[in-house]
Amino acid sequence: MAKKQFKAESKKLLDLMINSIYTNKEIFLRELISNASDAIDKLYFRSLTDSSVTTSKEDYRILLSVDREARTLMISDNGIGMTKEELESNLGTIAKSGSLDFKKENTNENIDIIGQFGVGFYSAFMVASRVTVISRAFGSEEAWKWESSGADGYTLTPTEKETPGTDILLVLKENTDTENYDQFCQEYSIVDIVKKYSDYVRYPIQMYREKTRALPRPEDAGEDYQTEYETYTELETLNSMVPLWKRSKDEVTEEEYNQFYQKQFMDYQNPLRVITSRTEGTATYNALLFVPAHTPYDFYTKEYEKGLALYASGVLIMEKCADLLPDYFSFMKGVVDSQDLSLNISREMLQQDHQLKLIRNSLEKKIKNELNAMKNNDREKYETFWKAFGRQLKFGAYSDYGMHKDLLQDLLLFYSAKEQKLVTLAEYLEKMPEDQKYIYFAAGDSTERLAKLPTAQLVLDKGYDLLLCNEDVDEFCLQILRNYGEKDKAKEFKNINSGDLGLETEEEKKAAEQASQDNKELFDALKEALKGKVKEVKVSTRLKEHPVCLSSEGPLSIEMEKVLKSMPGAENQAVESDKVLELNPNHPVFQVMKDTQAAGDTQKLADYADLLYNQARLIEGLPIEDPVAYTLAVCKLMK
Ligand code: ADP
Ligand code: MG
Repeated sequence: MAKKQFKAESKKLLDLMINSIYTNKEIFLRELISNASDAIDKLYFRSLTDSSVTTSKEDYRILLSVDREARTLMISDNGIGMTKEELESNLGTIAKSGSLDFKKENTNENIDIIGQFGVGFYSAFMVASRVTVISRAFGSEEAWKWESSGADGYTLTPTEKETPGTDILLVLKENTDTENYDQFCQEYSIVDIVKKYSDYVRYPIQMYREKTRALPRPEDAGEDYQTEYETYTELETLNSMVPLWKRSKDEVTEEEYNQFYQKQFMDYQNPLRVITSRTEGTATYNALLFVPAHTPYDFYTKEYEKGLALYASGVLIMEKCADLLPDYFSFMKGVVDSQDLSLNISREMLQQDHQLKLIRNSLEKKIKNELNAMKNNDREKYETFWKAFGRQLKFGAYSDYGMHKDLLQDLLLFYSAKEQKLVTLAEYLEKMPEDQKYIYFAAGDSTERLAKLPTAQLVLDKGYDLLLCNEDVDEFCLQILRNYGEKDKAKEFKNINSGDLGLETEEEKKAAEQASQDNKELFDALKEALKGKVKEVKVSTRLKEHPVCLSSEGPLSIEMEKVLKSMPGAENQAVESDKVLELNPNHPVFQVMKDTQAAGDTQKLADYADLLYNQARLIEGLPIEDPVAYTLAVCKLMK
């Protein structure tokens, strides 16, 4: 019988396919099983309206058989089968999908068929040197045999088959130096591949497996009897069929969710929260997501790979699809299953996929709402979450020039100096006294030190609360947020070490102005002495008991300078905040300075200026510029 040629383009396509679409040879099995499952779906669908279908629901199955000697693998289904014409058009034309046609013809029905692209079948040629398809269509007496060894064409001959369905026999390629095809006729690797990609195919995928068992001990066995074993075969169902995420939440126990999570995502702890989501409409998908209870050891490193497992109608496409999660939710684990995605889609294509974008947006909202609910209803749990991943959310609010701040700002927590616990920005705002102008915060490496800052006391004494921010990202985050609250009631964030805090009364302001005028010469002299170190020396309105402090002007605060300088590679960069040395005119030290100046001792005045400046640096947690000189200066004073 003459060989029929594949349609011209098909030849090229076939080559391309075999060599490039799939990176993983093992997925051929996923493709053939998915086709078998589709074929069964079609027959089952038909049985709903056609009483001549006698296969009962329990009898549907996909059978795998391996023969190690012959090096073959067979995939059999008792689905709808194919007529001669269908064999010719579905398997003779690449990129022709009978399943897609079927879907189109039955648009009103809720059919969940996997195939629609028309290339999956050919993936068999990645591992097989010859593919034989024997098929008998439901309702037909005839059976046909389609056979091909790849790009050079196929033959179609009549044959016999007792029952409807399709058998696909693969003769595996010879092993090469780099490729081991034998694995595809070995039971255990077939079991692995099925588990990995097709665990949730809804029909049983079965295989006769070779097993051994002990023979019963004969009654007359003597003392030295040794147990004997026999091998036998047993039909085993390899897949678990119903995915957890397709079952409704009240059908599944917490224990089941926890086990699934631990096994699937290799965590030794239970998740903090389980999120399920089913949607219909613009983005049809089922999702089962988990909020982990602790930071993975590599979370804040480059090695950490974010992503959710992506399934198309229960068949795994990708283990970690990064495009499903924005960076700020990169800690989420879980599974997304959609029937709108095509199986044979590559990573590059996925990124462009419109459907995927819809799913991503819908998931983002869902995750936000769930975190918000956790924050409102179970604060203790939320704080555990916050401890593990809060930093990531703050980075999220800060990143992309604050583009995501509306989404994230209500999820943020900060430590309140007044309440001595973590609070939300809304909670801070709620408790603000009428006359308070700003949301005050102090940034540095330890909350204890921050709480003791002279300015911190000043704010607290006024009855205002203060957020103590001890993570490097905090101030950057708050600066990008700029303010918080509803439009006209929004309050600006204010670092207590920068600029005008809006705390002083009119009288205090006047007094400060007066003091500046009265001591102009002293300030000029100090400024001269500290040239290049501070931008300004002035009278402070924020000091009560302390003689000095440092504050900053402009967008870069002292704390931000510290953070930036500590970043790798920043050593040579000029990141200096504009510092202001503030003096307390009511402190005895101030009088000492005045006297020194009056006595005309310029050197001594310069030494004092330096001492005060370094003390102010210490209070801010900045290193002393020249510790040796500083110590000598202190000793000189003591003598
Ligand atoms: P897709 O599954 O994306 O449609 P495939 O290349 O995997 O593309 O399969 C092509 C077509 O061949 C299918 O749409 C289906 O009509 C038919 N087909 C493949 N395998 C079977 C099978 N086991 N039983 C019945 N029809 C099949
Ligand atoms: Mg297919």
